[in-house]
Amino acid sequence: MNTSMYINGQAILGNGNALDVNNPATLEVITQVYSSAFEQLEECVAKAKQAFTIWKNLADPKIVEAFHAIAEDILSQKEELARLITLEQGKPLFLAQVEVELTVQWINYVAGLNIPVEHYQEANGKKITVYNRPLGVVASITPWNWPFMIAAWHLFPALKAKNCVINKPSEFTPLSTIKLIEIINQHLPAGVCSLILGDGKIGHALTQHPDIQKVTFTGSTGTGQKILENSVSTLKSVVLELGGNDIGIVLEDVDIDQVCRKVFMSAFLNAGQTCACLKRLYVHEKIYDQVIRKLTEMINSQVLGNGLEEGTTFGPVQNKLQFEKVQAFITDALEHGATVIRSHQLLPEKGYFIAPTLVVNARDEMEVVQKEQFGPVLPILSFSHVDEVIKTTNQSEFGLGASVWTKNLQKAEKIAEQIEAGTVWINSHADLSPEAAFGGWKLSGLGYSFGLGGLLQYTHKQSVHITAA
Ligand code: NAD
Repeated sequence: MNTSMYINGQAILGNGNALDVNNPATLEVITQVYSSAFEQLEECVAKAKQAFTIWKNLADPKIVEAFHAIAEDILSQKEELARLITLEQGKPLFLAQVEVELTVQWINYVAGLNIPVEHYQEANGKKITVYNRPLGVVASITPWNWPFMIAAWHLFPALKAKNCVINKPSEFTPLSTIKLIEIINQHLPAGVCSLILGDGKIGHALTQHPDIQKVTFTGSTGTGQKILENSVSTLKSVVLELGGNDIGIVLEDVDIDQVCRKVFMSAFLNAGQTCACLKRLYVHEKIYDQVIRKLTEMINSQVLGNGLEEGTTFGPVQNKLQFEKVQAFITDALEHGATVIRSHQLLPEKGYFIAPTLVVNARDEMEVVQKEQFGPVLPILSFSHVDEVIKTTNQSEFGLGASVWTKNLQKAEKIAEQIEAGTVWINSHADLSPEAAFGGWKLSGLGYSFGLGGLLQYTHKQSVHITAA
């Protein structure tokens, strides 16, 4: 199993301390990876800076060709990659396969984007051309929930804009990212896409480095804030994709069965460990009991287990810290008088398994409603007037996403307009598109990913004013 970091295209082992990589479904140690030593980080940045002098001048068709070749290689290794994702992350194999497929879709989409050039002509004859120039070396820091796909979301736009990139994956899930960087390095020049390994300490050193021009980060709000502080002395720009507490608002006119199937998927996708998961559900009081009944059926139909075993539909939580955090949310809800409905499946003996759980009769002041649970627990509240729920939505410190569920699309669009969040879905949730901007308002983030706007986050503007001599 490859456990190397990548400096200047070379696979080498880290000189730092050894970190266990665990399988969250069995608690077995899969392997150990060695953290990068600080001298190795220095070398990695220096080589990336050197590689940038060549990469920034490469013709775009060559980049497009390389991206398509990378996407093909990934697709041809889909089974192996998906198994690796399941092994270290815990999600069922079919979902890990989807993660690989979506990654390929995203890479091909980014390959097709063109960086625009603007032209202006002034009355006095002066011409102005506005270019979007590459930045230099970009640092990418990724989390453990969708380790493979999120790394690709960072790397490919930055590379397409002709930057060199250094990724640091989560210490909990480095293996699939190592494989991704291995594949990328088979198609790109040395030093263009590098990898360092380790925990937050090496992440901190990377994001602080004076030769890093930009940091793209996906993870918790607390870490995002530290990265932002770290960027001040060198005025680095940042893209921060952070936590969320997405609301779903279900109006009384919906088809309950259909909506519950979609709501279940959106709330419990990847055992609820998705930034854009639906994290608190507000249901009109007239259909509240029916929705609870249907969602109870849905949680009871899940098969919990090791994602590598056939038939598993629901995996464990990824790590101990998250496991304990989610359990504490359930305890707090119980202590505050909520009714908790857990799927009646027996839990596997080992592993960080939490049965999919509904918190019924939840109230706004409960922790599981106020905070991001990032796990398989959905609080469900009832409402009588939608205006109250819009107000509650906007009181949140987060502003990542929200959804409105109704047959009345006109009404839904009016509600969407009033919601303070980067994305509002109508009759779906968490279904992202490579074309549409994705980012958070408030404590959910800074900047945007995806689409041309996401690509341009990895560029500087340069205006060239041309006056005839
Ligand atoms: P985390 O912040 O603990 O860790 C993320 C990454 O940051 C890891 O690689 C970690 O090693 C690194 N890190 C830790 N401290 C650092 C520091 N001081 N400087 C630099 N790097 C440091 O987050 P997590 O627990 O891995 O991920 C879960 C969180 O991520 C949730 O809050 C979730 O909502 C959020 N998330 C957001 C999005 C989004 O697009 N908005 C997507 C996925 C996850």
